[in-house]
Amino acid sequence: MNVSFFSPPTAGRYALRNVRAPRCLVAGAPPGAGELAELDLLIDQGRIAAIEPAGTIPTDAGPDLGRSMVLPGLIDCHTHLDKGHIWPRASNPAGDGAAAAVATAQDRSANWNAQDVQRRMEFALSTAYAKGVVAIRTHLDSLAPQAGISYPVFKAMRERWAGRVELQVSSIAPLDVFLRDEGRELADRVADAGGQLGCVTRLLTRPGDQNPPELDEAVGRLLSLAAERGSNVDLHVDESSNPEARTLIRIAQMASRRRFKGRILVGHCTALALQTPEFIAQTLDACADAGIDVVSLPMCNMYLQGRAAGVTPRWRGVTVLHEMKARGLRVAVAGDNVRDPFYAYGDHDMLETYAQAVRILQLDHPFGDWIAAAASMPAQIMGLQDRGMIGAGRAADLIVLKARSYSEMLSRSQFDRTVIRAGKAIDTTLPDYRLLDDLVGA
Ligand SMILES: [Zn+2]
Repeated sequence: MNVSFFSPPTAGRYALRNVRAPRCLVAGAPPGAGELAELDLLIDQGRIAAIEPAGTIPTDAGPDLGRSMVLPGLIDCHTHLDKGHIWPRASNPAGDGAAAAVATAQDRSANWNAQDVQRRMEFALSTAYAKGVVAIRTHLDSLAPQAGISYPVFKAMRERWAGRVELQVSSIAPLDVFLRDEGRELADRVADAGGQLGCVTRLLTRPGDQNPPELDEAVGRLLSLAAERGSNVDLHVDESSNPEARTLIRIAQMASRRRFKGRILVGHCTALALQTPEFIAQTLDACADAGIDVVSLPMCNMYLQGRAAGVTPRWRGVTVLHEMKARGLRVAVAGDNVRDPFYAYGDHDMLETYAQAVRILQLDHPFGDWIAAAASMPAQIMGLQDRGMIGAGRAADLIVLKARSYSEMLSRSQFDRTVIRAGKAIDTTLPDYRLLDDLVGA
């Protein structure tokens, strides 16, 4: 059963009249002042044929949507689909990152065969697709022997989901892997998958060391391996509540020194919010010089950071996203973990991620162009130039809401959204958790 609040016409050519879209997400928006542009959209054979001021297109061309909001398909540029949905069999009662890593490692070695990874990925992608997500980058745990299992599954899933959810991959492994020959093998595997080379800024051997001296050598090798293969880079950086974690500036300076040509995306960077204003400014200058992009994972980080039994958390666990954007960095928000030891909740829904980011990071008053952090910014960061915006000539991949304003959109869950792909409404029924019962336990 479809809970969508309306069904678009089934004709090849029709209009969605009297809709509103965030002005920052409309290429060639009609002139106007407000955060929302008032539009008529003409859809033709799966593409947006024209964008006109509301009231322009004849009334018999399609329904009047009464100022409902329309968004482009959203982009999730940082996820972990290989970990998703293991919570029932791999919970994390301590709720912090260190215990999450232990619980995940145990589950990985016990359970992550190809079929297990494939079925959980399929569940995740079915969910994201039904929510209106059009592209996802997933990290894959990439130490041997898991890399040999997960990358073939990823490549098969990318093929299977092509045209519905565009998939990209990045490796994640402890820093030490790039101090060994295994780092070169991993770089080859990632390049073969057309992926981004990545790691976390911590050592497997000394996970508590927030600022390991080996970082320069290991990240240096990672950058060389990536440059030799033409790969971009995607790193988990300073994901910590400990201000000793200060690797971001070292990475940025190294990328500049080496004139690294590829793109670098850094995720988390939570500890940066605990530094002095002067050190934050220096770090952001270094990131701007190196052309580094940033993704914040607000739901997962508010959940993990600053957690101790019996103690009320005092901070939100998120990086300095306002300052980064003001410094001219490209910034995104993303979903990160879903129902695994790193985050017990989540539903692969970038509209929820954006709504939670508004609350956690105060991306409001004004809303401005912050919604781009869930749409056009991650599209640019992922190199998907035709994604994340509504524009003439682009695919009619849209999310239509009953909500008419940011206030209405952000106050309800939007479970009744209509998702349009190539001009046609898709079934937005979510996969039943029972599908995974035999895999993860009920
Ligand atoms: Zn992550």
